[in-house]
Amino acid sequence: MTPASSPCMTALFMGTGASVGVPMIGCSCPVCLSPDRRNRRTRSSILVSSGGKNILVDTAPDLRSQALREGLTRIDAVVYTHAHADHVLGLDELRTFNFIMKEEIPIYAPPRVLDRIRAMFSYAFSDENKEGVTRPRLVPRELPGPMEILGIPVTPFLVEHGPVMNTALRIGDLIYLTDCNAVPPEGKRVMKGASTMIVGAVRYEPHESHFGLAQAVAEIAEVAPRQGYITHLSHRMDHATLEAELPAGIRPAYDGLRVAV
Ligand SMILES: [Zn+2]
Ligand SMILES: [Zn+2]
Ligand SMILES: [Zn+2]
Repeated sequence: MTPASSPCMTALFMGTGASVGVPMIGCSCPVCLSPDRRNRRTRSSILVSSGGKNILVDTAPDLRSQALREGLTRIDAVVYTHAHADHVLGLDELRTFNFIMKEEIPIYAPPRVLDRIRAMFSYAFSDENKEGVTRPRLVPRELPGPMEILGIPVTPFLVEHGPVMNTALRIGDLIYLTDCNAVPPEGKRVMKGASTMIVGAVRYEPHESHFGLAQAVAEIAEVAPRQGYITHLSHRMDHATLEAELPAGIRPAYDGLRVAV
C-alpha cells in the first residue's frame, strides 16, 4: 500500500484562524465574544501524521499553545507554504521539540520561501551566535518540486496570493490550499483526484489576496473530493452559521479537529 492511499494518514487542525486570529484583539463582535469554542481560532497550521511520523505545515505564532493543547511532543519535519508572519512566526518554538527529541528538525520550503525564512530568523541559521541566544536546531531543505518527505509524497504548487505567489501542497491525497485568490492551471492538474481538500476563505466576500467563501467552495466542487474543509477563517465567519450554510461534504474546520485522509 502506498502512503498516498494509507487509511491511517490524518490531518489535525492546529489552527484555523486568519492572520490576526479569532477573537481579534479589541473586537467585541458576536463571533469574537461567542461562547462556541469552535469560534476560537489560532493562526492556521495543520499536523499531518502517518506511520507514527508528524509533519507540521507552517509554524504559526500560536505553535506553543497549539502543541500544549494537543499534547504534541514530536515534530519530524516542517513544511512551509510561505513566509507571511502568520505562517512562520512560531519557528522558535521548534527549540522545545529539539530539547525533547534530542534531534535536529528538517524544515522544507520552496527555495524562495527558505531564503525569506533565513532572512527573517537570521539568528537561527548563523553559526556565529553573536546574540548569545539559544537557537532552534533546524536543517533547511529545499522543496523545489515533488518529493517524498518521511515516505509521504509531497507536491508543492504555486497559487496566487494577491501581489505574491504562495505555495499550496498536495500531501498524499490531501490538498492544503490556504492564502490563495486564484489557482493557475498547473495547480488544478495537481489537485485532481484528491480525497480531502482544506481550503482557506477569510470571509464571505472575495478579498484581494484570499478566496471569499463561494470561491473556496467552487474550488472544492471542481475537484469533488470525499471531504472538504474551510480554514483560515476571520471573525466575519460564525462556525455554526457556516456549518448550516455549506453544501454537503464541505465543513468549516475548527482548532483541534482531526480528520482521516
Ligand atoms: Zn495566512
Ligand atoms: Zn470580531
Ligand atoms: Zn499569506
